[in-house]
Amino acid sequence: MERTFCMIKPDGVRRGLVAEILSRFEKKGFRIVAMKLMRIDRELAETHYAEHREKPFFEPLVNFITSGPVVAMVLEGPGVIAELRKMMGATNPADALPGTIRGDLATSIDENVVHGSANAEDAEREIALFFKAEEFVA
Ligand code: ATP
Ligand code: MG
Repeated sequence: MERTFCMIKPDGVRRGLVAEILSRFEKKGFRIVAMKLMRIDRELAETHYAEHREKPFFEPLVNFITSGPVVAMVLEGPGVIAELRKMMGATNPADALPGTIRGDLATSIDENVVHGSANAEDAEREIALFFKAEEFVA
């Protein structure tokens, strides 16, 4: 069964959207196989977003993602990597359709509420970066 890494970003936690977002995943039928409330330190943030190191938005992105607690989780389900990205909507909430998480709950590309792995390779890397084997349910 496919797995992906998902994170409710600091803006989502600050704005009280954790239950709303988890509710969408539960209703969709994804299984939550690991989950924790945590602070991301600079080192983890820079590793997680390493692909964007040379981009102009890298510093603000790292500052934002370390600015408060996040809810990190591993979701499991058929086609969950692509399904989660569909449910999240476009990176820029201005382009995200109504009905998607970013379309319904966000207005700014800098603070777009959720992260989801982009593909199978990223999912594997990100799951290993955030979770140890003993943090998964049986
Ligand atoms: P995420 O990786 O957070 O799930 P994503 O995969 O949809 O988002 P990426 O291209 O990986 O988008 O960008 C990572 C994050 O960097 C985005 O969520 C967004 O907050 C920020 N970002 C991306 N592009 C820009 C941009 N052009 N200007 C400002 N911030 C951006
Ligand atoms: Mg990404």
